Amino acid sequence: MELKIKQECPQCGAPIVISESDHILSCPFCGVNNFITQTGLQRYVLPGKVSGFGTTLYAPYLRFKGNVFVVTEKGVDYRAVDTTHAGHPHSRLPPSLGLRPQAMELERLISKRKGSYLEPSLKVGQILGKAAQISELTGKFGDYMYHRAFIGETLSYIYLPLALKDDMLLDGVTGAKVVDPENSERLFESGQKYKSRWRIGFKPTLCPHCGADLEGAGDCLVLHCGNCRKAWELSNNELSEIIWRVAPGDGTTKLYLGFWRITGRIDAMGIHSLADFFERTTQPVVPKPEWRRQIMSYWIPAFKLSPKRFLHLAKQVTQAQWRVKLSTMRKLPNFYPVTMSSSEAKQSIKITLAETAARRRKLYALLPEAQVSGMGISLVYLPFSDKGHDWVQQHTLAVVEKNVLRFGRSM
Ligand SMILES: [Zn+2]
Ligand SMILES: [Zn+2]
Repeated sequence: MELKIKQECPQCGAPIVISESDHILSCPFCGVNNFITQTGLQRYVLPGKVSGFGTTLYAPYLRFKGNVFVVTEKGVDYRAVDTTHAGHPHSRLPPSLGLRPQAMELERLISKRKGSYLEPSLKVGQILGKAAQISELTGKFGDYMYHRAFIGETLSYIYLPLALKDDMLLDGVTGAKVVDPENSERLFESGQKYKSRWRIGFKPTLCPHCGADLEGAGDCLVLHCGNCRKAWELSNNELSEIIWRVAPGDGTTKLYLGFWRITGRIDAMGIHSLADFFERTTQPVVPKPEWRRQIMSYWIPAFKLSPKRFLHLAKQVTQAQWRVKLSTMRKLPNFYPVTMSSSEAKQSIKITLAETAARRRKLYALLPEAQVSGMGISLVYLPFSDKGHDWVQQHTLAVVEKNVLRFGRSM
């Protein structure tokens, strides 16, 4: 479930509530659009109701929400994971925040807040490993794991306030006693000051090329300029220009969905051309002669989906890519926003290959060394027709259920 966060408009100060996946703040009061910049992870606080004496101590929890994929001899397995895990494990503190962050509006951790902060003692990678364990994926089969990927994840810190009262640390939300007097003082003294690098910033969503306002709000990661027709991806606190194309649809087109098209060769597997791809993954397809000259590309959905649908759609469109005809069209009617970044798409190549492989073992053994070189990336919008409960892609006949897409948007 999406977390809700109270956020002040940097322009007019109006109180706004945003979702954790929102990168862009559209103020309904002053109409100004900004995107959020940040070094490292976003930091939020559970609103405390219990006030103690003196200052509050804040304990960090790492929040992970996303899809975990693993490749073992049995194939590709996956789970959607939504968890918080103590970043500063202490026997007296709760190991997880449970459902609490979803039940209340969180506040952003800002420098004005009085208090001290426990340092996370676990590295993000260690906590992610625990997230994979929680998802019961690793160790389930007792098989060798060829590859593991975290895709489409949101990572943040959520702080639990702890109030000091009568030498006891109390849960600042429920008032429950969490740490006895003997341990409280020691824990309290290990708290540190607010760090300036935790601060977030804002930049206006203006086209870096022509200065026009960019279209797109909330969880959009790609913004299109209606004036100069360039497209920009929000990444590393900047707007970076991306190449985008359209495969024009027929008269039944109701919606365009974006796919990251990643070209490149994988030397370890000997996959350079589209023909190589069908041969190395031993699919029952006889490659056409021109496929020998066609560089291999991987087509990864540019929007969030459940792990099962995501994997299936990447496989279907990648296999049927030779049916897609691109054009130089620069106008896009009715397109669904891009909510999956190009860097996440790159991380999805290996699981897509693993899912397509008919004879697994040989290809899987090469996964750890597989690297894509000479990489090129562009965003391609494919046309979909409305078929009742489904959206159907006109060239590849790939299907996206309408309710699944709605789910994806609210992920
Ligand atoms: Zn405002
Ligand atoms: Zn522009």
